[in-house]
Amino acid sequence: MHIVVCVKQVPDTKIIKINPKTNTLDRRSAPAILNPYDAHAVQAAVKIREETGGMISVLSMGPPQAVAIIKKSIEIGADRGYLISDRAFAGADTLATSYALSKALQKIANEEPIDLVICGKHAIDGDTGQVGPGIARRLDIPPITNVIEVSEVNKAEKTVLIKRKQISGYELIQTQLPCLLTVEKEINSILYSPLPNMLRAARYEPVIWAVSDLGEVDKTQLGLKGSPTIVGKMFTPPKLEGGKKLEGSSDEQVSQLMDILMERKDLLKLKETSTAN
Ligand SMILES: Cc1cc2nc3c(=O)[nH]c(=O)nc-3n(C[C@H](O)[C@H](O)[C@H](O)COP(=O)(O)OP(=O)(O)OC[C@H]3O[C@@H](n4cnc5c(N)ncnc54)[C@H](O)[C@@H]3O)c2cc1C
Repeated sequence: MHIVVCVKQVPDTKIIKINPKTNTLDRRSAPAILNPYDAHAVQAAVKIREETGGMISVLSMGPPQAVAIIKKSIEIGADRGYLISDRAFAGADTLATSYALSKALQKIANEEPIDLVICGKHAIDGDTGQVGPGIARRLDIPPITNVIEVSEVNKAEKTVLIKRKQISGYELIQTQLPCLLTVEKEINSILYSPLPNMLRAARYEPVIWAVSDLGEVDKTQLGLKGSPTIVGKMFTPPKLEGGKKLEGSSDEQVSQLMDILMERKDLLKLKETSTAN
């Protein structure tokens, strides 16, 4: 079983700031981390490998510093890491990102056929959730999104049972291998990395490929050139106003609440009148 997990380096969005003048992310304001959903994806791959044997590769597209998240994935339990890094990839939107990653996956598959690709549900910075399904479409394999459990991996029959989250309840799908999964955080808990993994990660050097290493690639589909998306505006949404705490006895609070509701009712009526006019 060869599992490839796509991992992305993202700024820690809990602390990142938006530059109000340029309306862009101030990437220097926060440390870069392994996208949290991708950490769960690597952990899910480790569990499958425990049951079926085989190998886990991780793949990332990003600047040279993205080596750090490949090392982090090795700490969690991945065996091998690949980074595709080239100025030609810069400025890629999800269409160009999924194209570049699918080309790298094809190259990896030439070395060792791939049975399963796992991505996070979304990246916490771009947050589109489009890259996983985009890769699946390009590789012509089924995408299964919002996965919360993987079981019954049958290597001989090349099938797997997937539980995926829905708005209410869940769905069970038996599908063919190879396929692509995008995983939710509920799929597992991130365990402490064993010491041997940490030592291996500290010394590990991933394979780094430039565009020229990927074989036949249509360069017009890469980076900014291959990205039809235009970001019109980016801004921090205004903070929500705090609620109002009612004070006094129960009767006084009810009376205050009624006043507020009546005030709102008048506002609603005013709105209705102005719409009618
Ligand atoms: C015009 C334009 C220019 C942009 N320029 C840049 C830029 O210069 N630098 C930049 O960082 N972003 C840039 N972006 C943002 C970029 O489009 C997205 O970050 C990227 O395409 C991934 O989309 P996402 O973050 O929505 O990922 P999602 O689709 O939400 O990610 C889902 C999953 O896909 C996988 N995945 C996503 N991206 C990668 C990756 N790079 N490597 C491996 N796996 C991945 C992960 O498993 C992840 O959990 C640009 C966007 C636009 C529209």
